This record gives sequence, C-alpha cells and structure tokens, in this order.
Amino acid sequence: MISKILIANRGEIALRVLRACKELGIATVAVHSTADSDAMHVRLADESVCIGPPPSRDSYLNIHQIVAACEITGADAVHPGYGFLSENAKFADILDAHGITFIGPTADHIRIMGDKITAKQTAQELGIPVVPGSDGEVKPENAMEIARKIGFPVLIKATAGGGGRGMKVAKTEEDLDEAVATARTEALNAFGNDAVYMEKYLEKPRHIEIQVVGDGAGNAIHLGERDCSLQRRHQKVWEEANSPALTVEQRMKIGQVCADAMKKLKYRGAGTIEFLYENGEFYFIEMNTRLQVEHPITEAITGIDLVHEQIRVASGNGLSVTQDEIVFQGHAIECRINAEDPRTFVPSPGTITYFHAPGGLGVRVDSGAYAGYKIPPYYDSLIGKLIVHGRTRSECMMRLRRVLDEFVVDGIKTTLPLFQELVDNPDIAAGDYDIHWLEKHLAATSAQ
Ligand code: ADP
Repeated sequence: MISKILIANRGEIALRVLRACKELGIATVAVHSTADSDAMHVRLADESVCIGPPPSRDSYLNIHQIVAACEITGADAVHPGYGFLSENAKFADILDAHGITFIGPTADHIRIMGDKITAKQTAQELGIPVVPGSDGEVKPENAMEIARKIGFPVLIKATAGGGGRGMKVAKTEEDLDEAVATARTEALNAFGNDAVYMEKYLEKPRHIEIQVVGDGAGNAIHLGERDCSLQRRHQKVWEEANSPALTVEQRMKIGQVCADAMKKLKYRGAGTIEFLYENGEFYFIEMNTRLQVEHPITEAITGIDLVHEQIRVASGNGLSVTQDEIVFQGHAIECRINAEDPRTFVPSPGTITYFHAPGGLGVRVDSGAYAGYKIPPYYDSLIGKLIVHGRTRSECMMRLRRVLDEFVVDGIKTTLPLFQELVDNPDIAAGDYDIHWLEKHLAATSAQ
C-alpha cells in the first residue's frame, strides 16, 4: 500500500494530484523551487520541501534532490504529473532502485514509447493502425526513393521528437532535400540526435486520442476519445470529449483496438494513444505514457477519477471498473487558460490582482491561481483549466458561453477572450474543424 506520495510537479497538476491523494487518505509531500514557495499546492500539502532555485533543471528536473526529498519525508511513492520527469525512464529506474513506487508505467514501456520509431513499430505489432511511412530511420541518400514510394506530400519527423520540433513537410520532390536537411539540423539542436523518419503528410486531419488505463497484469480499459484538433503551433488550446466527428460505433471500435493493445503489452497506469483521423481512418502518431493536461474532460463524461486509478494500479490494487461498467455521459469541453496575450500569445507573467472562478452545475476549474498570486516567469504559462460538462454538445456550449462571462482574472493578460470568440464561431458550433483551423482563423482575424 502507498501511504505518502511526493508530487514531483507544480501548478494546477500538482494541486490536481494532491486532491486525489486527500480523497484517498494518502499523505502528501509538495516539492517546489524557490520561485514557488507561495504556490497553492505547497500551502495545501501535508509537508513541503524546497528542492532548488527557479530553473527547472535545478529543481523540478533534479532527480537527486527529488529522491533526497523522498528519503527525508519518508514518501513511498512519487506522482510525476505531466511534463518534467513524467516520461523519464531513468527517473523511474532510479526510484525503483530506491524502493520508491513510480506512479506510472514501467521504465521499459516509457523507453519504447519515447522513441518514435520504436513506438510506431510496437503500435503496429499490437494491431494499432499507423500512418504509412518509412520502416525506421531515413538517411538523406535514400530519402527520395522512400518518399516516392509513400507519395508526396511527405513529413520528415525527428525520432526523438516532441513539441512539434524537428518536423518538416516536403510538398514535392523539389522540397525534399531541404526538408530532410532542416529537420535533421533542428532535431540535432533540440534533442542531440539527428535521426529522422518519414510519414505520409495528411492534409486535413483531426487530432483524436484515446485514453487507456492498464493494471500491468494484462487487464486494460479505454475511456473513449478526446478531440484536440484546435491547436496553435502544435499546442492544444481547446479539447472536447466526445469528438464531434465520431459515431458511437467508431468510438467503441478504435477504443477496443487500443484497450486490446494495452492488454497485450501488459501496460500499467494511464496512457494516451494519439491518432490523426482523416476520411474515417485512424493513424497512430504517438503514445504518451502519463496523465495528460486534458484528462478532466474524460473524467467529466465517464465519472472516473483518473488519478485515483493511477494510484490504485501503482499500489497493485487493479482497476476499479471493467469496460462494461463505463458509461459515456454527455459532452465536455476544456479551455486552457494561459497567462498570455490572447492575440499575440506573448507570455504575460505578473501578479493576479483579482481572481473570480465561475461555478454552477457542470463547471470545474483546475487552477492554483488566486488573488495576489505572482506568476513566476520561469515555467509554462498555463494558469488554469476550465472544464464544462453538459448533457449534449449544445448544452455544453451554452454553459461554456455563460461561464466564460463569469470568469474574471485581473492584473495579467489571459487567453479567456479567445475562448469567448471561439464559442460564438459557427464552425466551432458545428464541430467542423481540423488541426489547421485555429491557425487559419487567427491569421484571418488578425489581418482584418
Ligand atoms: P510531437 O511529439 O513533436 O508533438 P507528434 O507526432 O505528436 O509530434 O505530432 C504533432 C503534431 O504534428 C500532430 O498533432 C499534427 O498536428 C502534426 N502531424 C504529425 N504527423 C503528421 C502527419 N503524418 N501528417 C500531418 N500532420 C502531422
């Protein structure tokens, strides 16, 4: 049994994990940098340990400090949240060597899914549909032959990729050499590894991902999909569950494919299998072996607390539900509230002078922000997530419109006005958008 969890993260996700621990009667340890001494998760935790100066590499990414904090406080498990060390296989290994439970998958599964070529090959072996592309790495000298076989346009992607870096499109044969060379240089600079591979470039796909949870002993379930097509620079902005594009049959079919794959893999913990979806077909792009930012919309439509499930399976207690018991109810939308200018997306750190979160039926706000909170400039700009649930998509949109009017954050700029614009847009109302829609919309409206 787990009795004390150290939360190796900050911001809204640290608070999210802390809430689940409190509900389960598990003691909590917050760790924080010197820039986060006033953070809400630090105030609410049973104990807290300062693990270093503001830069992440010296604090939230500092494995030795985090292990030392576990030893000082007697924490017997670590929840890594998302980002930071959540997909770091070495961290999982080190905790294991110290007899501390890592709340997540095995280090081997993190490694397999962390390398994009291995992940894609594994997915294919497990029966998951993948984007047509090269068998493994592509070298400049054989790029043309492979691209011709796949058919233009093609996408060059970094094996070590993440955050959309090291990715280049070649529309025609003329673009290929340059695309391969630039992708390799970018990959080398970003990841210290210039290996690239090639995929068919899909022109107007949606981004649809399936939430899975496994117990590590061969039992796994899926919790339906999330549509995260509304993105800017490959960063998700607005997510919804269910996807406006799928039928119930399509959902259950792809969900089952993913759950079966996780059973074969004996996957442990929560994970997300990401797909591009075009013309009725799913194409695997990657698997995230952790909790995701947008997990609350899945919780809203299933009533299942994903962090409770993560802790249960990490404790060896198995899943609390079977696939048959999962009922998808209504529709949920998440808006990521960033401390950024809503047009230019330039970060807007500073002090929040007034903070009023909305309420009412079907409303959830996950945020560590409060009036008087000073947003440190060192970390990402997500200050909160607004999650709205309704019985139907149109009820959810109606509620979202009302809730956005109620939400007040003063003293800094936020992306709230962008969501007020989106909720009134006819394409969004119709659920008619792909992964390029938001960038096109932003370009068109700022040109006016
Ligand atoms: P990263 O790990 O760098 O985020 P992903 O493989 O998850 O890379 O892809 C990020 C985004 O890039 C996707 O959400 C999608 O917008 C775009 N993308 C990736 N692969 C393709 C493809 N084959 N065709 C078109 N767009 C793609």
